[in-house]
Amino acid sequence: MCEGSVLLSPGESALDEWIQLIGTDRVLTESIQHYGNTTHEGVSPVDAVLLPETRDEVAAILRIATRTRTPVSVAAGGKNWGLGSRIPHGGSRVVLDLCRMNSIREVNERMATMTVEPGVTFREAAMHLRRAGSRHFLSVTNGPADGSVIGNALERGDAVGPYGDRASHVADLEVVLADGRVLHTGMSRFPVCQAKSIDRHGLGPSLDGLFFQSCMGVVTAMSVWLRPKPARFGHLLFELSKEDYSIVDSLAQLALRGVLEPGCLSLWSPSKVLLQAGVSTQYWRGSAAFYGESDAHLGAVAALVAAGIGEHAILAFTTEAEEPAFLQSAYFGWPSDQSSKAIYAPMGFEPPEVLNPDSDRVGLIWLCAAVPFTGDAFSGMMAAAESVPVPEGITATLGFSMHSARVLRGFFGLHFDRDNPSAESSAVAVARRVRETFEERGFYPFRLGSPLIGKPLENGVTERVLDSIRGVLDPSRILMQDRYGFNR
Ligand SMILES: Cc1cc2nc3c(=O)[nH]c(=O)nc-3n(C[C@H](O)[C@H](O)[C@H](O)COP(=O)(O)OP(=O)(O)OC[C@H]3O[C@@H](n4cnc5c(N)ncnc54)[C@H](O)[C@@H]3O)c2cc1C
Repeated sequence: MCEGSVLLSPGESALDEWIQLIGTDRVLTESIQHYGNTTHEGVSPVDAVLLPETRDEVAAILRIATRTRTPVSVAAGGKNWGLGSRIPHGGSRVVLDLCRMNSIREVNERMATMTVEPGVTFREAAMHLRRAGSRHFLSVTNGPADGSVIGNALERGDAVGPYGDRASHVADLEVVLADGRVLHTGMSRFPVCQAKSIDRHGLGPSLDGLFFQSCMGVVTAMSVWLRPKPARFGHLLFELSKEDYSIVDSLAQLALRGVLEPGCLSLWSPSKVLLQAGVSTQYWRGSAAFYGESDAHLGAVAALVAAGIGEHAILAFTTEAEEPAFLQSAYFGWPSDQSSKAIYAPMGFEPPEVLNPDSDRVGLIWLCAAVPFTGDAFSGMMAAAESVPVPEGITATLGFSMHSARVLRGFFGLHFDRDNPSAESSAVAVARRVRETFEERGFYPFRLGSPLIGKPLENGVTERVLDSIRGVLDPSRILMQDRYGFNR
């Protein structure tokens, strides 16, 4: 908890002021303990949940928090399952839940951009574009359909398909600072600028990076970039022979040459294939997606990739004409809960209609690490993961997605039933050990979960500079801290 801040209990001044501001029906103090649950051991107490509906309400709430030195945590979709969900951090016991700020402010068909508020989910964005008859789609994650587009972007999440590196395909952040001031990043600081949602850096130093994985301000709107639907689509499913991972180097060459697009390749361990797709295999599986503007274009790209992979490993090549279901899949911006349902596999009961792993005692811990796009690094991370014994009752999975032509993002998962006492009591320790092993071998996290899984990284100067910047943007340090480790 930050120095000088006060713990909140009903009747204290911040709570009274917030109630005066937005009313008792939007300042919840009862039946809110689920906000403190996540998918592994450790519960965070929550005293109040605030439900603002407008940017001005967010500004007024933060002004009160700053004046009374009451720390707050922020959640948008609150579906950060496996990575700490929406539990408050840094001593905060108040959650600012932005789910009611769910307007889609604009879709610009010509420039292929969409401006959303934090409560807008992937499902809502996809429905909106479909209803509007848009020629474009917004790439979605493999995760919960009701995740927040902004929450996922601020975590620097990964999407399936083009523009998979979400944080690099957004612009125009509207940010409320802790003192209630509203800041616009990039070109949107110039109110009548014509290049607002499309030139993200603007003039001079770029401020937008400060608000990713930081909570140095509350983002109340963002423009995300859309991709035109392609004329043709193809999907290649292949297998990696266990003895030879040079195939990964071949794929990297194709990526460097622009044949394979970032976001369009993923590689899954046999245990992940079994858990997520229900298919038993002894080999790693890969899938690559191609977007073409004609038969000839698609055919040429697919042939180059197939040659790089080697015919013997290819299981299937399917186009959208043969398999129209692709048009309603994540590859075309259709979110689904299929993968999220699969995390219920260890539970011994069917996933409910409305998924809520935090309350359903589903055990899940993700560790995310950045890996060079080479066969050596790929097998190095695999060896690191395998070197840590995983007790009975916990299933370990590993997957990679192509973040760029040079970087793979590795996702190590621990899946278990939280009502299995031995799995519940050992999972966090196993995750910590795996994270240490990854770091010892040079595989550092690109995204962090709950602080229980290991302390944030420290690297001296960078951390101190970021902490100084936080001191300028949030002098009373009331916004959620501790997750990314640059607050003293
Ligand atoms: C089976 C499964 C598969 C998954 N696959 C993927 C995947 O393919 N790619 C991927 O990226 N993730 C994946 N995830 C992880 C996670 O579920 C998603 O990233 C999800 O989108 C995050 O939740 P959210 O969008 O609701 O964000 P939230 O939980 O609302 O927010 C995430 C973080 O951003 C901060 N934040 C949110 N809104 C704001 C704001 N307006 N201002 C300031 N800070 C804010 C919050 O404090 C929080 O720390 C997966 C999870 C599961 C269970």
